[in-house]
Amino acid sequence: MTQLATRKDFDQYMIPTYSPASFIPVKGIGSRVVDQQGKEYIDFAGGIAVNALGHANAKLKQALNQQAESLWHIGNGYSNEPVLNLAKQLVESTFADKVFFCNSGAEANEAALKLARKYGNDHHGAAKNEIVAFNNGFHGRTLFTVSAGGQPKYSQDFAPLPAGIHHVAFNDLETAKATIGANTCAVIVEPIQGEGGVIPADPNFLQGLRALCDEHDALLIFDEVQTGVGRTGHLYAYMDYGVQPDLLSTAKALGGGFPIAAMLTTDKFAGALSVGSHGTTYGGNPLAAAVASAVLQEINQPDFLQGVKDRRQQYLSQLNEINKKRQVFKEIRGLGLLIGCELNDAHRGQAKLISTLAAEQGVLMLIAGPDVIRFAPALNIPEQDIDTGLSRFAAALDLYLNKE
Ligand SMILES: *Cc1c(COP(=O)(O)O)cnc(C)c1O
Repeated sequence: MTQLATRKDFDQYMIPTYSPASFIPVKGIGSRVVDQQGKEYIDFAGGIAVNALGHANAKLKQALNQQAESLWHIGNGYSNEPVLNLAKQLVESTFADKVFFCNSGAEANEAALKLARKYGNDHHGAAKNEIVAFNNGFHGRTLFTVSAGGQPKYSQDFAPLPAGIHHVAFNDLETAKATIGANTCAVIVEPIQGEGGVIPADPNFLQGLRALCDEHDALLIFDEVQTGVGRTGHLYAYMDYGVQPDLLSTAKALGGGFPIAAMLTTDKFAGALSVGSHGTTYGGNPLAAAVASAVLQEINQPDFLQGVKDRRQQYLSQLNEINKKRQVFKEIRGLGLLIGCELNDAHRGQAKLISTLAAEQGVLMLIAGPDVIRFAPALNIPEQDIDTGLSRFAAALDLYLNKE
C-alpha cells in the first residue's frame, strides 16, 4: 500500500457499478475539494446532497472525535446515549412520535414499506398489501425499493420482483385516484423527484394523495432521503407543502457525510413493528448518531434555514443570467438548494458531457437523468464559492457551445 492509488485501480479492482471521474479527490474543506494533482474544485454536488455542512465541518469533527473516544458500537441489545438524544431531537422537530434508525436511504424506505405491509396485514388482512408508487421515482437499490422505484431499467434484470407494486404517473392525481383502493396499504412518493429530474410535486397532488390515503387507511410515505434535513429551506419538504405523511424516510444529509438514515412515524403506526419484527446491526450506531445530532443542531435553526433560501436566490439570479446569454435551459426548478436545470431540446442528452466539462473547469455538479444538470451543494456554501463555481460553470458551457 505504498504506491498511490490511481483511477486505473478502479477498473482493475472494483465491480463496475459506477463510472467515476478521471481524477481522485483526496481532501475536502468547506465547499472546496482538492484532487491528487492538487487541482481545486468548487463542490456543487455535495456528495449527492449528503455533505450538508460541507467537508470537514469543525462541529461535526468535534462530535465524531468526541464519540470516538467513548463508544463506537454496542449493538441494539443495548441502547446508547447518542441515539436516544438524536431520536428525541427528530421527534421534537417533526410530526413524528417514534423513530427507527438504519444506515441508508434504501433501508429507511425498506423499513417504511415493510411497516406499511405489516400494518395493512394486522388491521385489514393479507389482501391489503398493494403499494402505489410513481413513474421515475427513486427509492434505493434493495430489491423491494428498486421495485418501488419507477425506472424499470433499474429493476427488470433482477426479476422476479416483489409483487403488488403499481406505478402511476407523477403529479397525475386522477390516475392515482383510480389506482388507490381498498387493498392499497401504502403510497410512496418523493415530494421532489430527485434522481428523476428534480421535479417538484404539485401541492394539490400531495394533498390529494393525503386524502386518498385517509379514505383507504393506506399509509402515506414521503421519501425525503434527498429533500430532507434543510435542503428545501425547511427542515423537511413536507413542511414546505403543509402535508403531513404517516411515514418519512430521511438519510443523505442526516449524517452530513457519515452513513445514517431514519424512518419517522407516529404512535398510531409505530406499534406495527414489534420486538423482533425488523432490525439492523448498525442502525443507531453511536458514532453515526452523535454526528447526526450535531448536523440537526446546526441546520434546524431559523437563521440557517433562511440562509438556504437566500443562497437559492443567488443561484437563481446567476443561472438566469447565464441562460439569458446562452439559451441552454428550458427550465430552472426545484426548491431551496436542490436545483435542476433542464436542457432545452437542442441540447438533449448532454448533461453528462456538460458536467464533465465543468469538472475540467473546476466545479463539481450532478446530473439527474440525461437532460438535467443538478446542484445539491452544502447548505452553508459561502457566497463567494457560489459566484466562483457558477462562473466556472459558465465557462464550461461556453466550451461546450463552441465545441458543437
Ligand atoms: C439517494 C436516494 C435514495 C437511496 O438512498 P441510499 O442511501 O443510496 O440507499 C432513496 N430515495 C431517494 C429520494 C434518494 O434520493
